[in-house]
Amino acid sequence: MSVLVVRGAVAVVEDSGRVRTGDVVSIDGTIVEGADVTDATVLDATGCVVTAGLVNAHHHLLQTAFRTLPGTRGIPMRDWLPAMASAYASAGVDPELTGLAARAGLAESLLSGVTTVADHHLTWPSDADTVAMAQAAAGAAAGLGARLAFVRGAARDDPQEAAASADAIVRALLPGIHGGVSTDGMLQIAVGPAGVHSDPRESFDLLGEVARTHGLRRRTQANEVVDVEIALARYGSRPLDLLEQWGWLAPDVTLAHLCDVTDDEIARLAASGVSATHAPGCDVPMGWGVAPVRLLRDAGLAVGLGTSGGGSNDAGHLLADARLALQVSALMGPQLPASEVLEMATAGSADGLGRPELGRLTPGSAADLCLWDVSGIADAGVADPVAGLLWASPGRRPRTVVVDGRIVVDEGRLTTADEEEIVAQLFERVRR
Ligand SMILES: [Zn+2]
Repeated sequence: MSVLVVRGAVAVVEDSGRVRTGDVVSIDGTIVEGADVTDATVLDATGCVVTAGLVNAHHHLLQTAFRTLPGTRGIPMRDWLPAMASAYASAGVDPELTGLAARAGLAESLLSGVTTVADHHLTWPSDADTVAMAQAAAGAAAGLGARLAFVRGAARDDPQEAAASADAIVRALLPGIHGGVSTDGMLQIAVGPAGVHSDPRESFDLLGEVARTHGLRRRTQANEVVDVEIALARYGSRPLDLLEQWGWLAPDVTLAHLCDVTDDEIARLAASGVSATHAPGCDVPMGWGVAPVRLLRDAGLAVGLGTSGGGSNDAGHLLADARLALQVSALMGPQLPASEVLEMATAGSADGLGRPELGRLTPGSAADLCLWDVSGIADAGVADPVAGLLWASPGRRPRTVVVDGRIVVDEGRLTTADEEEIVAQLFERVRR
């Protein structure tokens, strides 16, 4: 039995803004109310705020290999998509590149306090060994000790091939499992076309069928500005009308972006039980605008937070994007409080993955947690340490990160891998 005690924190954020002090205790990777802690490993949290591990609900880990790529910035999405596609083609997306990019992206995630990443993988060359690609991403997560929700996406893929590949990936990575989550909770598989702007109804239908067969969550992207333009031009409908007709406005679906939505659409989204992922670190630089998060939450939607990928965001630092979400929310109505945005980055994202055991520090939750040192100069004078966690000290990183009861970041360094080697291997592959 492995017992961990986190002791002496300034504040422990348990759930939805519920803040307390006192110990956080976990046994074999699960938070417990109280226990015999005589032989426990004790983590000293003096000067720290303790939160649940952050959950990045929308990433494209492959794009970690394509950050700040010349010719992909400051251009409309209709030009960005082919520019990224040609970069993928010249790099040759294969299991090796998928694994190295995932390893770098997941290492960055852990070092910035993100313990679970939803990786919406959209690039599947027609001759690729897609099971090996998924295995490479899953292997990277397992090696680092991060939780991964691997989303078998599609972007103009042949619908039949995409569905057959998704089915093969589930059977290979989660053999004999229904519900899409491994027994130890470290790996989840989901499916999701890139959006109605890129994929036909058949892809939504066939990937939806794979989801039904295996009990997987479904995820897609909607109402980036170009998505609305293309849907109107191609179908004479708005994206959410299409998703509704195609059976993709449902409680097992999460929609990323949702920048350009009407009041009527917000009401329909809420009634459908779908959840949302806000990704301002992508939406703002891409020029798509700001999703009306206040209105979405007030309507009753579960809203999570995601970074989206390195092709638009260049960083996978979810707490930095939580700060951005706070800043830009004031453009769209009453400003969101820090406690709500922190809830989005933890429990809100976890709920969209169908994982209520993640993103919280309540008894029975997974022991994924971060110790954030708030005793430094950048926090001097801060009255509310939880609000300061997001507002003060931009780019803050946690001192210690625990996943499933195991310390994976200690004193700001990975304990599970050599950081310099991760960097060198990705650069070596990208330059080759
Ligand atoms: Zn995205």
